[in-house]
Amino acid sequence: MTKKVNNIAVLTSGGDAPGMNAAIRAVVRSCSYYNLKCFGVYRGYEGLMNNEMDELNARSVRNIINKGGTFLKSARSQDFRTKEGRKKAHHNLVKNGVDALVVIGGDGSFTGALKLSEEFNFPVVGIPGTIDNDINGTDYTIGYDTALNTVVEAIDKIRDTASSHNRLFLIEVMGRDAGDIALNSGIGAGAEEILIPEEDMGADRLIESLRKSEKSGKTSSIIVVAEGDKSGKNIFELGEYVEENLTGYEVRVSVLGHIQRGGSPSCFDRVLASKLGVGAVEALMEGQKEIMIGISHKNVITVPLRKALEKREHRHDKLIKVADITSV
Ligand code: ATP
Repeated sequence: MTKKVNNIAVLTSGGDAPGMNAAIRAVVRSCSYYNLKCFGVYRGYEGLMNNEMDELNARSVRNIINKGGTFLKSARSQDFRTKEGRKKAHHNLVKNGVDALVVIGGDGSFTGALKLSEEFNFPVVGIPGTIDNDINGTDYTIGYDTALNTVVEAIDKIRDTASSHNRLFLIEVMGRDAGDIALNSGIGAGAEEILIPEEDMGADRLIESLRKSEKSGKTSSIIVVAEGDKSGKNIFELGEYVEENLTGYEVRVSVLGHIQRGGSPSCFDRVLASKLGVGAVEALMEGQKEIMIGISHKNVITVPLRKALEKREHRHDKLIKVADITSV
């Protein structure tokens, strides 16, 4: 393969996600395989602006494929949102002889990467790393599968106590804008109701549906609620509302929170991260830029970064029907 780049830098940015380490490893080892220099930038854009980077080799990334989080650390950076901040970042890339940047993160990180690319004509490639699975143009993001499995495991445990006490549990899971985690974990864990940001079920319909469940003989219930659901109430208010309007159940609320981000990545996420990491380096070597590396029907694809930042099409209809049918 002819090389259009010689020195690549990689960073992780935004919320951490299990499998980010596997993606870094794949980038570093691809560089090693193709005889490119690879720099690891610490603390995302913040570290890039402060010139916190080290050259990495294939051995620098040993024993990390199974680790959650990101050994390069991640950060949210206000300064990088300014042109002055991005200028500093670009200056450090050039100073270190870096000629392309791989950004592993979510849509905020991609927005920053696109700006860097447009303002300084600097080649960037994004790898979708976020548990929310909310990036347009890729079937999956790194970390989503692991988070799903974590959530299902937690709900299974909560179900044990729900069914022992005739309790109704409202369980909040991550997803401010995307219902992927709620919907899939809800189906996987056998939830009675699932509230997602893309659909406005309405608190009254929820009560109606729970009454029906009660009449059909259910003695406990699991309701999975995405952070960004459209009920207009936070999870505790929703819990109170359900308790006021439904007799016969004790209502409990459980917010799963940050456990959803942690833990050893699933095999699916490790393989996905490996494929996307290799794809990113190969795309840069071909001279591609301003793209995201994604996955579509098991194939590694390239998507213009701008398109990856567009609002994702709502694609839950079939799953919502499955959830409705399997929870009767
Ligand atoms: P997650 O989906 O897990 O939250 P993310 O990548 O969307 O990940 P953000 O905190 O939104 O996380 O973004 C990460 C970083 O990207 C920000 O801290 C900031 O430095 C940079 N960034 C975000 N939006 C912009 C923007 N509009 N312009 C420049 N940089 C940005």
